Amino acid sequence: MCADTAGSQERRSFLRQLLPAGILLLSVCSGHSLADEILALTGARIIDGNGGPAREDAVVIVQGQKISAIGPASVIPANARVMDLAGKTLLPGLIDAHIHIGGSGGGAADPREFTPTAVENSLLSYLKFGVTSIYDMAAHPSLNSMKTALETGELTGPRLYGNGFGITAPGSHPIRLITELGLLDYLGPFYFQVDSVADAEEAVRRISAEQVDGIKLFHSRVEAGTTRFDADMDKLKPEILQTVIEQAHARRLRVYAHTSFPSEAREFVEAGGDVVVHSIHMAETGARDVFELMAARDVAYIPTLAVFEGGYTMEPGSFFSPQQHEKVWDVLLASITAPGSVVLASRTVPGLLNDRERSLEISMANLARALQTGVKIAMGSDAGNAGMLHGATVLRELQLMNEAGMTPMQVIVAATRNGAEVIGRGEELGTLEAGKLADIIVVNGDPLQDLSALGNVELVVKNGKIINPGELEFKEVQQPTGDGS
Ligand SMILES: [Zn+2]
Repeated sequence: MCADTAGSQERRSFLRQLLPAGILLLSVCSGHSLADEILALTGARIIDGNGGPAREDAVVIVQGQKISAIGPASVIPANARVMDLAGKTLLPGLIDAHIHIGGSGGGAADPREFTPTAVENSLLSYLKFGVTSIYDMAAHPSLNSMKTALETGELTGPRLYGNGFGITAPGSHPIRLITELGLLDYLGPFYFQVDSVADAEEAVRRISAEQVDGIKLFHSRVEAGTTRFDADMDKLKPEILQTVIEQAHARRLRVYAHTSFPSEAREFVEAGGDVVVHSIHMAETGARDVFELMAARDVAYIPTLAVFEGGYTMEPGSFFSPQQHEKVWDVLLASITAPGSVVLASRTVPGLLNDRERSLEISMANLARALQTGVKIAMGSDAGNAGMLHGATVLRELQLMNEAGMTPMQVIVAATRNGAEVIGRGEELGTLEAGKLADIIVVNGDPLQDLSALGNVELVVKNGKIINPGELEFKEVQQPTGDGS
């Protein structure tokens, strides 16, 4: 049974509904504790996440949950268990700084996507793709239960961080979209629609009363992932933007914003915001000035490029090989192309594919600008949206960042050190350094020569525990029959 920390009986029963007892007892944790053991990882190329040249001659020593030393063979203690990793590359565990664990990433065409099992299996996929930390960028009502279950080992998966309920202007994104989809009763309660400074103060007070890692706000007139925009849709008023950010900072919480136009990002940055969580995908004009301001104020940028493709799994000749298919639950993959798939349906909406293509083009060009102006860039897959599979989308995102002009090393830094900094965990995660938590991946090949080597994760060390990703088995669930079952 998951422990949950929510106060009220009502909330507890709601959480139970979403995360029923016995959600996951992967009886065998595929790892074993190294609390009493010293591990020496030898012979591998080491990319430490800081962006400097790879080291060919160093050894990483893991003791308990942490990296205790990196250096020449002379640092290996006499009692260490030595693992020879010649021909492999060691990197920090990848950090996906923008995901939605509440969405399956499938086509919403199979009822099994909406079961707790789907969430459990998606968490396993992250490990199979070498991702050891994820940040949920939306309001997931059972985030705290999941965090606890991951910490106690009841769930197997990456470290989980995330925002609480979102803040937006009345009727604005995502409320309008949720309403159109007929999901207002289901999803609407997880967003505060604020129209006054008092509302804003109350929203931050209530959000921060939960165990959140940051605050998400929407400051956009555009529906996510499209170029459907409505000039009448409200953004947050300037004094509200200011209040939310000040109140969050007073509680040591970072503020993450969904923006689309350069002007929206500028308003957020000028109000003191911390992280722009999507590309500026609506215009190139004016973007350079915004990036210069972001660089000067150390505001980070998460481009989320893959989401604009809206279904990369269907592209012929895609990187998404049958070997990678095995790392996602087949139910989710099949759902993307099944009858009733919203991914398929979206491809027939007049103009939508063109809109997305245009958004991707602008986003790629703006990522190049962000790079030139020295903005801190982190990687986020936006997985959980329809067609954006958990874990797998990371590979596509890395590839697109590379195509936009980032070198493989820059891409790796974005997905490790910068990711940790952006989610507020830079002191303990994101690089291979003595004293940091031992979240390490071992990949076959050299990702600096070919970034797709990051798809060949052979071993994961999380919190000092060795996990063989090939041994993590997806749980199956019966196809529900009839209604109400
Ligand atoms: Zn998102």
